[in-house]
Amino acid sequence: MKEIQIRDKKFRVLISSDKIQEGISRVAEKINMELKGQQPIFICVLNGAFIFAADLLKKITIECEISFVKLASYYGTTSSGQVKTLIGLDENVKNRTVVILEDIVDTGLTVETIVKQLGIFEPAKIKIATLLFKPEAYHKNIKVDYAALEVPNDFLVGFGLDYDGFGRNLEDIYVLVP
Ligand code: 5GP
Repeated sequence: MKEIQIRDKKFRVLISSDKIQEGISRVAEKINMELKGQQPIFICVLNGAFIFAADLLKKITIECEISFVKLASYYGTTSSGQVKTLIGLDENVKNRTVVILEDIVDTGLTVETIVKQLGIFEPAKIKIATLLFKPEAYHKNIKVDYAALEVPNDFLVGFGLDYDGFGRNLEDIYVLVP
């Protein structure tokens, strides 16, 4: 199989763009059915989820809105060290159905942080949709409602995911070659 080089590392194709689109279509169909009449607001977590969000939203046929947020890291003065804050939320999510759009759910720490911080704005419900889900690594209790594809616990790039800032533009998903 063809290998590609990104910076100092080699990667090979793990999931083709066709398979990715099939997974996204499955998620879209489920959301179209389950959230019909709820006018959900999708919240795309930048940077990684931008391609997933664009492709998914093209397949959403129910009335909806989309907004974009980012998790900003800074080093707080607390003993816990790194603190992540949700920035850019400019829509009123109070009493709304919110669907968080993530690129990948790994340990679940990021999703947990987002759910906690969104909760402050009192949405009616929070759903989680992710392009990729690593079931072996996940150890949180929050339900991942919609996962386009389940993946092994390896380092992946492409379709929005980066290695050192590069590779987000790749149409397929690649895995690191050891
Ligand atoms: P979690 O907080 O669930 O452990 O990790 C989520 C975040 O870690 C993702 O949003 C992503 O930025 C990063 N991440 C986790 N696994 C991978 C991976 O395989 N490849 C890349 N490029 N990023 C990953």
